Amino acid sequence: MLKIAKYPDPILRKTAKSISDFNDYLKKLAADMAEAMYHDDGIGLAAPQISQSLRLVVLGLGKGQYKSYVNPEITFFSKEKISSDEGCLSLPKIFGTVTRAKKIHIKYHDVDGQIKKEKIKGLGAIVLQHEVDHLNGILFIDRAEKITEGQAILDSLKKKLNEQIK
Ligand SMILES: [Zn+2]
Repeated sequence: MLKIAKYPDPILRKTAKSISDFNDYLKKLAADMAEAMYHDDGIGLAAPQISQSLRLVVLGLGKGQYKSYVNPEITFFSKEKISSDEGCLSLPKIFGTVTRAKKIHIKYHDVDGQIKKEKIKGLGAIVLQHEVDHLNGILFIDRAEKITEGQAILDSLKKKLNEQIK
């Protein structure tokens, strides 16, 4: 089972690299990510979260099913927004309210290298915005208007991070 990188692991702050080889390794990586995501009851996972600085995201579709997004790029964000409580497998027990676009258009490659376009709204749109943020080193705690659960845990992790920097 792949190990999930936890905040403040520096890998989570790196900008992930584009993928150009659509090989068996990539398919295996996506499958292993989906397995790790379902194991921890996640609904999305980005490759930096398993310590691979690559632009790969998996989205849970329920019942062990998943969809892979390689080099995803959000090309449209609706003006209409939606606020929801988000969590992250890299920040266990911490939740916060984040406002995001209600509807997005996303362009990506599938694992075979085919370019795809999709319009998504609702939960899928929220999860994909969260996951694409991971590829750019952005975490939901950066965007949260309010931490609704786990503020003390987050404070102690930030303290740990500051001690690492010193
Ligand atoms: Zn996350």
